[in-house]
Amino acid sequence: RKFTKNLLENSMKKIRKKIIVSGIVQGVGFRPFIYKLAKKHNLTGFVFNSLIGVEIEAQGTKTNLDKFIENIKKNHPPQSKVDAVLVENIKLKTCKNFQIKFSNSKTQNSTIIPHDLATCKDCEKEIFAKNNRRYLYPFTNCTNCGPRFTIVNGLPYDRQKTSMKSFKMCKLCQKEYDDPFDRRFHAQPNACNVCGPKIWLEIGNKKYKGNEALLKSAKLIKQGKIIALKSLGGFQFACDSQNFSSVKKLRTRKKRPDKPFALMVSDIKMAEKFCYINKKEKEILTSSQSPIVMLKKRKDIEGIAPNLNTFGIMLAYTPIHKILFASGIKNPLIMTSANKSEEPICISNEIAKKDLKNIADGFLMHDRPIVNRCDDSVVFELNGNMHTIRYARGLAPQKINLPFKLKQPTLATGANKTGSFVLGRDNFAILSQYIGDLDIVENQKFYKESLANMQNFLKIKPKNFASDTHPEYFTSQLFKKTTRTQHHLSHILSVMAENSLKDPVIGLSFDGTGLGEDNSIWGGEFLIINKNNWQRAGYLKPIKMPGGDKAVSEIWRLTLSWIYEIFGDKWIRFRHLFKDITKQELTICINMVKKNINSPKTSSIGRLFDAVSYLADADKKISYQAQAAMELEAKYNKKPKKSYKFDILNTNKKFILDASPVFKEIIKNRDKGQEVSEKFHLGLALASVEIANKISLKTGIKIVCLSGGVFQNKVLLELMIKELEKKGFEVYTNKIIPSNDAGVGLGQIFNNRRKLKL
Ligand code: ZN
Ligand code: ZN
Ligand code: FE
Repeated sequence: RKFTKNLLENSMKKIRKKIIVSGIVQGVGFRPFIYKLAKKHNLTGFVFNSLIGVEIEAQGTKTNLDKFIENIKKNHPPQSKVDAVLVENIKLKTCKNFQIKFSNSKTQNSTIIPHDLATCKDCEKEIFAKNNRRYLYPFTNCTNCGPRFTIVNGLPYDRQKTSMKSFKMCKLCQKEYDDPFDRRFHAQPNACNVCGPKIWLEIGNKKYKGNEALLKSAKLIKQGKIIALKSLGGFQFACDSQNFSSVKKLRTRKKRPDKPFALMVSDIKMAEKFCYINKKEKEILTSSQSPIVMLKKRKDIEGIAPNLNTFGIMLAYTPIHKILFASGIKNPLIMTSANKSEEPICISNEIAKKDLKNIADGFLMHDRPIVNRCDDSVVFELNGNMHTIRYARGLAPQKINLPFKLKQPTLATGANKTGSFVLGRDNFAILSQYIGDLDIVENQKFYKESLANMQNFLKIKPKNFASDTHPEYFTSQLFKKTTRTQHHLSHILSVMAENSLKDPVIGLSFDGTGLGEDNSIWGGEFLIINKNNWQRAGYLKPIKMPGGDKAVSEIWRLTLSWIYEIFGDKWIRFRHLFKDITKQELTICINMVKKNINSPKTSSIGRLFDAVSYLADADKKISYQAQAAMELEAKYNKKPKKSYKFDILNTNKKFILDASPVFKEIIKNRDKGQEVSEKFHLGLALASVEIANKISLKTGIKIVCLSGGVFQNKVLLELMIKELEKKGFEVYTNKIIPSNDAGVGLGQIFNNRRKLKL
């Protein structure tokens, strides 16, 4: 009996535990979830948002506490992500109930900036329920969805520190906000028709308000008009993708002749009509991040993605988009960042009306200010993984855990064409949202604005600086005292940091442009990274770029340069390959190469793609970055039986990848289009893997990292991973961090600590 009594007493005995949950746990309804769970298990104590995540003190019986912790791990809210749950026994305290404590910004130094979430199923239901008080209300949100990063101007994340500050909640909204059992408990942007932001449409002097604005916009779009629409992170141009004259009109007005437009669809079914979608792609499309996903075309739409075999598709992710579709739109909409060509996405009503008036026929706007500009993210799926091309809405900013500790707060300024920066402290780093081409002054302003905001959010005052070796980058000139890292080394280090890899590794850095250590332009690099040093073990045979940067947009110059390299003065025999170029232009170009006038050397694989692409389809004018390479990729249909052979030379103990035989064969066989694409992709993959293998045989290294803008080419990435794995390599790539220049900041921050020597 005594034994039973003891057992009973033991089970009734109270204990107290401190529980720390880290991961994505703020701004996603985590505290109310904990509150409800504590009540359910008869626990007392409290929960609050802290620097590391969510901290809990809970007191109750052991059985109840065990169940409580079990439930935190298993049943946390859908938008949250639990990385770790730390539990520690602490002394009992006297307390009667369980409380949610509120963040105190003075003592707190939160590093968690929640990102924007697509409208959830529950909110969607309410928006389309006739008797709901939020029926057709375009700013409906809850703790599982809605704006976050794009409306915050300070941390910790709280309504007073968002652009919702000026909207005072009505009684009903306040009640939801205060009720721990409500889905909108502490949903910071909570709002309704009575108290929240309002929408309107302006066409000239005419103004339509509320639901009428949305109905009218839908009608105008169906009639072929272009609407500038204020979305989460900025304005978008919306028009009917299946109305070719609208598409043409948008292309002409935006001065964007070929660059693909993203499409928005109402649901997966609509997407499936035009694209093939696998299970993982579906999962990404319908996730709360709701990015643009690159998908293989099933049925083409004229003028949307000319000469490509993919569409970039996203689902309607805000109530505004959803209501627009429900107002009678049955076709995918073009939904593209609204800006003056290549400038930052517009965020203010006034500037949009001024800057975009020659492009848009009407302006669908609202009075909830956008604080942080943020484009739509772009990703693709490969082997079940998501790979980021544009790191923006829904993804940015996200904490990246570093496999090392920074001694001082550090800022890596990034590169140039795809601007972004990385701020780091202790053992984490935050990558900024996509900023765009930093040769454009307006984007430089955006960069500075975003940098100031992020420093303010994170309360990081960088003491250490890292940047690219290129002296002319905007980002290289920001700070005098800075550790400079070679561009392609940075790309590989970004993979190592992202995957927590230890050296040594072999890095294949295939890229467009970057300054090399010998002052030529690099971009086809086989690197070895050791503990204290790195080396260039191989590279693509350098070729002259007659006209310098001009050769990037006039790709025939590169083709001609290769032909001259191979055939010398007999190049004239191949005059017929350059139908669209005058003899005079060709001769000038050849003379530049011969006399070394404005013809820097490059080992860039990006440029090799350009040169080959020109031969695959011999009359191409480039109007956007990487167009030739993307169009060559699009011609790839299936793995060919035969591939082009590259030469692999060994000069001065370095492996040189020589593409000369490829050009000879293409010309000899008069290969075109699909054939060139397939044989070239496979040939390049096989030859590159062969060099990696030769390096491995010499060094014993079995780990290969792939990075650089060229690896946005899904065909090449897939082939290389497969061929490398066949040879027994462990292969690592960028995933969340883009493999393009937006990712180099992470490599720079890594090297700032390592200071690798060449
Ligand atoms: Zn919701
Ligand atoms: Zn309200
Ligand atoms: Fe690069």
